[in-house]
Amino acid sequence: MALVHPRNYLRFLESVQPQPGKIYRVDDDTVISHQSLEAARFAAGALIKAVDMVIQKKAHHAFCAARPPGHHAQSNRAGGFCIINNIAVAAMHAIAEHRLQRIAIIDFDAHHADGTLEIFKDDPRIMLLDSFEADIFPFPKENIPTGRNPHIVHTPLKAGTDSRRFRTVIREQWLPKLKQFKPELVLISAGFDGHKQDQTSYLNLHEADYAWLTHKIIQTASSCPGRIVSALEGGYTSESLGKSAAAHIRVLAGMRKAAYVTEYQKQLKH
Ligand SMILES: [Zn+2]
Repeated sequence: MALVHPRNYLRFLESVQPQPGKIYRVDDDTVISHQSLEAARFAAGALIKAVDMVIQKKAHHAFCAARPPGHHAQSNRAGGFCIINNIAVAAMHAIAEHRLQRIAIIDFDAHHADGTLEIFKDDPRIMLLDSFEADIFPFPKENIPTGRNPHIVHTPLKAGTDSRRFRTVIREQWLPKLKQFKPELVLISAGFDGHKQDQTSYLNLHEADYAWLTHKIIQTASSCPGRIVSALEGGYTSESLGKSAAAHIRVLAGMRKAAYVTEYQKQLKH
């Protein structure tokens, strides 16, 4: 964690931990209870473990159903429900412990990964492919600064973006770059709040889109077979969160394509 967050920030988090029953308010969305820091440490720890397991071939891909999420946490600032940037911790662990030099972070959460961007905007070892709805939290500006890292791809989506548009954009903007980058590890910030049933965004995605995208990522990242670590970010409507996460995990686990995924794909072609 100290490779991502300075020690004074980690000490700050320890210092604001409230007594049981009390909360510390970071901002309007983000509160810390007496167990939040422990939960955040477990979440980041799960990703570290998952990275070790896929690199040591003890697991073929991994999914961490961990909360709190992480992608809005900047190096020295909590926000947007996030305290520790889990995906950034996983990436830095892979660099420091396993000496990897090319890691792709794919963030399909409906919200912009402002924390992950702040941490890696000058680090060319990291590719960040980030799709998000423009005009919702954290209100990314049109020209988001990308620093000195040439491997950052912002993919803003308009309110109402549907499956067809989403898939076209991913095919055009992400897959060729991912292929070319030849990652040694793929980390996914898997937020499912772009589902049409989820009230926190105006994107209109279907659970079959998450299965499709996961499949495309596996196909395209052929430079690192078995080395995908995915971690839960957003998703706030339990029904669509459950369906979407299950669709994503099914593909990661190498299970046969679900019938509804094939059926939905056929519908999209008409
Ligand atoms: Zn989100």
